[in-house]
Amino acid sequence: MNRVILIRFGEIFLKGKNRGFFEKVLFQNIVSALEKFNLKVERVSGRYIVKDYDINDENKILNRIGKIAGIFSYSSAECVETSLENIEKIAVEIMQGVGGTFKVETNRADKRTIALNSMQISAYIGGKILEACNFLKVDIKNPEHTLFIDIRENHETFVYEKIYYGVGGMPVGTSGSGLLLLSGGIDSPVAGYMMAKRGVRVSAVHFHSHPYTSNFAREKVEKLAKLLVPYTSSMTIYMVSMTELQEQIHENCDNAYMITLLRRGMFTVAERLAKMHGRKMLITGESLGQVASQTIESMTVVSEVVKKVPIIRPLVAFDKCETIDIAKKIGTFETSIEPFEDCCTVFLPDNPIVKPELYKVKREQEKIDFDNIIERAMQSVEVVQIVE
Ligand code: ATP
Ligand code: MG
Repeated sequence: MNRVILIRFGEIFLKGKNRGFFEKVLFQNIVSALEKFNLKVERVSGRYIVKDYDINDENKILNRIGKIAGIFSYSSAECVETSLENIEKIAVEIMQGVGGTFKVETNRADKRTIALNSMQISAYIGGKILEACNFLKVDIKNPEHTLFIDIRENHETFVYEKIYYGVGGMPVGTSGSGLLLLSGGIDSPVAGYMMAKRGVRVSAVHFHSHPYTSNFAREKVEKLAKLLVPYTSSMTIYMVSMTELQEQIHENCDNAYMITLLRRGMFTVAERLAKMHGRKMLITGESLGQVASQTIESMTVVSEVVKKVPIIRPLVAFDKCETIDIAKKIGTFETSIEPFEDCCTVFLPDNPIVKPELYKVKREQEKIDFDNIIERAMQSVEVVQIVE
């Protein structure tokens, strides 16, 4: 028996002339994601094959493949040299481990080696399975199990029973790179995941208000980034202090504008970091109307400070429960709900402005030395490298 993992890609198929490039990037991403295992990855006729691995690692490898963007589905399969006898033997062996109803589905890329057509092969192998496993029943319309027989051109046939669905989307690195504004909340890790899934190489900026916010807040963000890394590949976090900006706003401005001015500061710093490090977009976890700072008016006056890169808000139309579903699926939810202080909760006004007007915001901003404060915030940047 020769056990392998078959990997099928998704949207890359649609990419016409660029297909070669996408396939190469995905191949490289698979190789680096599986680096710590002893195995081989090969590219054969429209798929990738993982082989020569220790069977004890199989679940870990499958789990890791499930987090690589650009993979549509994958299966662990038995690989045999193409012949009816070989297929029959392995098919019976696989189906001996399951119960209930089943059908057989055959796909032939190689139409020469076996003289039967796909339907006939399915019927023949199905019959042999029934003979050997009298506890199974055939159900063509609604089977509990489907045994797949995939006959490839190179005289190899893959036989498998389970298909797992992957992240889908595009390989990381095929859609440029972005800077994620990563808080310790539920939304921003999901936003980062969504863009990684679209092929964006994601790094992050986190704003803290040390010593008002504790080291715990920072550790939490690092923990979230670590959970995201299997999806994004390695990740850099720029840690930036907003303490002076918040103190200055608190002392000099109408406190109702605290969040608006703080967020203008965050976006100003984020754009500067994006330009310095060649990031082509800012990414946030904002969702329209979720809180006072996410009304269209708030988003407009805050975005106004960003001139040269687009702000991508993948969750803008999501309900919180939809975001939570994804957070649970990708494994960030439990960490996100741990209690922590965000810089947005420091000096929080009782009545934040819900629909800020730009001229009033600018008037408040002029009460502090905004540009120099931002300059000093830039000096505070610490770089943290998160690896898997
Ligand atoms: P989240 O769950 O992502 O914290 P939220 O619903 O709490 O989002 P806000 O606190 O208004 O909403 O933040 C909106 C977005 O602004 C966040 O999704 C994130 O992208 C960014 N953001 C907020 N606080 C920070 C921070 N301390 N550092 C970096 N980005 C932040
Ligand atoms: Mg938040």
